[in-house]
Amino acid sequence: MNEKERVVEITKLLREKFPNPKTELNFSNPYQLVCAVILAAMCTDKLVNKITPEFFKRFPDPKTLANADIEEIKKYISSVNFYNNKAKSLSGMAKTLVVEYGGVVPSTMEKLMRLPGVARKSANVILNEVFDIAQGFVVDTHVTRVSQRLGLTMQKDPVKIEQDLMKAFDKKDWRLLSGAIVLHGRYTCTARKPNCAECVLNKVCPSAFKV
Ligand code: SF4
Repeated sequence: MNEKERVVEITKLLREKFPNPKTELNFSNPYQLVCAVILAAMCTDKLVNKITPEFFKRFPDPKTLANADIEEIKKYISSVNFYNNKAKSLSGMAKTLVVEYGGVVPSTMEKLMRLPGVARKSANVILNEVFDIAQGFVVDTHVTRVSQRLGLTMQKDPVKIEQDLMKAFDKKDWRLLSGAIVLHGRYTCTARKPNCAECVLNKVCPSAFKV
């Protein structure tokens, strides 16, 4: 099997396992997802999902959040790490949404990345989940690890890893694979104990049973 065939096989196997991968962050509108991805930096989705119901009740829209006092925002998010910085980002994000984008979450990478607290990775999540747009790959700690183990990249820098993935896979598959690789890393190809025995990719993975 040459490299092209191997990449096609990886795509097929991941598509079978994750036909419709979704973020595990809970949200019911684009504004809520932007808040959730800001809160999720260096933090588990599970913890974010625990605090967002109360947060969204108190700050249901960008205008309410933009007008809120930072100290009050902190109280609602104090159980997540870096909550001081995240409170500032949430406030800045809401102000930018209201002042520059008329309270509406924009649908381009460029505009999303102008929101405080939203870097390329988060922007990719928002574009994928809300707008069905694949501009690249979400490269988080799971995608970094799985891509390296699968021999799809030798890079450590997320921007370079994303470029390697964009070169390896067909653009039409980016959206699905972006979500699928995150979930595969979270539940099967875990950091400490990858479950190679039950991994659907174990016949096409150069690291199988070697990690
Ligand atoms: S075979 Fe093992 S190392 Fe390779 S992707 Fe699967 S779980 Fe990860």
